[in-house]
Amino acid sequence: MAVLYHSTRNDDAVVTASQAILKGLSDEGGLFVPDHIPAWEKSLKELSGMTYQEVAYEVMKLMLSDFTEEELKTCIDCAYDSKFDTDKIAPLKEAEGAYYLELFHGRTIAFKDMALSILPHLMTTAARKNGVKKEIVILTATSGDTGKAALEGFAGVPGTKIIVFYPKNGVSAIQEKQMVTQKGDNTFVVGIKGNFDDAQTGVKKMFGDKELGAELAACGYQFSSANSINIGRLVPQMVYYVYAYAQLLADGVIQEGEAMNVVVPTGNFGNILAAYYAKEMGLPIHKFICASNDNKVLFDFFATGTYDRNREFILTTSPSMDILISSNLERLIYKIAGEDAAANADFMKSLNTTGKYTITEDMKAKLADFYGGYATEADTAAAIKRIYDNCGYVIDTHTAVAAFVYEQYKAATGDETKTVIASTASPYKFTRSVMDAIAPEKSDAEDFALVDELSGMSKVQIPDAIAEIRTADILHKTVCEVEDMCKEVKGFLGICR
Ligand SMILES: *Cc1c(COP(=O)(O)O)cnc(C)c1O
Repeated sequence: MAVLYHSTRNDDAVVTASQAILKGLSDEGGLFVPDHIPAWEKSLKELSGMTYQEVAYEVMKLMLSDFTEEELKTCIDCAYDSKFDTDKIAPLKEAEGAYYLELFHGRTIAFKDMALSILPHLMTTAARKNGVKKEIVILTATSGDTGKAALEGFAGVPGTKIIVFYPKNGVSAIQEKQMVTQKGDNTFVVGIKGNFDDAQTGVKKMFGDKELGAELAACGYQFSSANSINIGRLVPQMVYYVYAYAQLLADGVIQEGEAMNVVVPTGNFGNILAAYYAKEMGLPIHKFICASNDNKVLFDFFATGTYDRNREFILTTSPSMDILISSNLERLIYKIAGEDAAANADFMKSLNTTGKYTITEDMKAKLADFYGGYATEADTAAAIKRIYDNCGYVIDTHTAVAAFVYEQYKAATGDETKTVIASTASPYKFTRSVMDAIAPEKSDAEDFALVDELSGMSKVQIPDAIAEIRTADILHKTVCEVEDMCKEVKGFLGICR
C-alpha cells in the first residue's frame, strides 16, 4: 500500500511523498506525516550484507512510494558518492564500549550532509513528476550546519535558488566562514540580528504568508524548505540507523533481533525522530536517549510532560542544538495524541500563544521508550577530554553532549544494551571549543593554527571542507534585522511591491 502524507494539523490535506517534499510545510503550518510506516521486506540479516546505497534504497522505497525504482536509485547514486570521504558513508567507531556512528564524512562535515546530499535530487525529481514549472526557492533557517549543507546541496542546481538565514552571533567562526564563502549565483546567505528561533520563526512566517506566496507565483517562484520539517530530510535520516544496526550485526557485536539503544544530540528533534520512525519500520531499538545542552527544553519535557519555551536562550559551545522550539517534536506529539490532528493543533496553538503546553498522562505513558538528559558546558568539555585521554579519539561538542548523557543514563539505569551514539559533527567544525577542552594552554592561537594542532593531536587528517575555507573569499556580507528578512528575500529574487 502506498504511503501518503497528511498534515499534523489537518487529516484531510492528503498528498503524495513527492508533493510533500515539494511543499515542505502544509498550508496551515502543520508538518507532513506518513499515514503509515510499512515494515521492510528484507530481513536484518540480508540488510547486514548491503552497502549504504543498497540499505538506502530498501528504506526509502517504502516511505517514498510514488518515486520509481529508477528515480530513487539515481537520486541515491548521485548523493552518496565520492562527496563522502569513505565508502562506508557512515562508519562506526568504538570508544569506551559505545559505538560512535560518524555522520560527518560528507562535504560540510556535519550530519546534515546525510540528508541534504540527496534532498536536491529528490526535490528536482519531485518537481518533474508533478509538472512544476516554477523555480523553487529554498528558504532555510540554520543554527549553523543545515545552512552550509543545504548551500552545498543546492548550489548550481538548475531550477532552484537557495536563501539561508543564520544568527549572526550564534554560530562558530568556522561555521560562519563556511557559509559566507559559498559560491554559486543561485545562493544567498544572510546573517540576522537574532537567534536561531527568530530565524526559524521568520522563515515559517514567510511560508504562511499568502500575499507573499502570490507575489512569488506571479514572478515564477515557489518556496520550499530544506529544514528537517521537510519529510525529504527525515526519510534519508532513517537509513543510517538501519545501516548502523546492519554493521553491528555484520561485525558480530549483536545477534539478529537483539535491540540497541541510540543516543542523539538533539536540537530540532529531526535526527532522533528518524530513529523513532526506523523502529516503526522494524528496527530493534530499546531506548531513544535524547541529549540536550543547557537549552534543556526537551529534558524538562520528558521529565514533566510540559513543553515550555519561556526561558532564556543560552548560547553554548554546541550551537547547532541551541534551540527552544524543536519543530519536529510536533510529529511525535501528533503520534502520541493518537494521530489526532485537532488535539495536536490545540497544543501547537498553545505553544504559539503562551509558549507552552502540557500533554495528558495517557500521552506521557507513550513516551516510555525515551530518556531525556542534558549536559552543561563543563560536562561537555569534560566528556571530550575524558574520551581523548582514554582512547585518543576526539569528538565534537555536540557528540560530547550525547556521550555525557549516555554515561549518566548508564549510571542511572545499569542498562548494558549495546549503544550507538550519533556523532553529528567533525571535531574540526568546532575546533576552538574542542581544543579548549583537550589543550586549554593553546587558547591564544588563531582558528587555523588550532586546526593544525588538532590534526597533530587527533591523528586525523584535516578535512577538505576546512582546508578549502582557509583562503576562500567572503562572498556574502548581508546582515539584517529580524523584521527585514522578507525584504531581503524579495530583494534577492528581484520582487518589489
Ligand atoms: C543539527 C545538528 C544537531 C541537532 O539535530 P536535530 O535533528 O535538529 O535534532 C546536532 N548536532 C549537530 C552537529 C547538528 O548539526
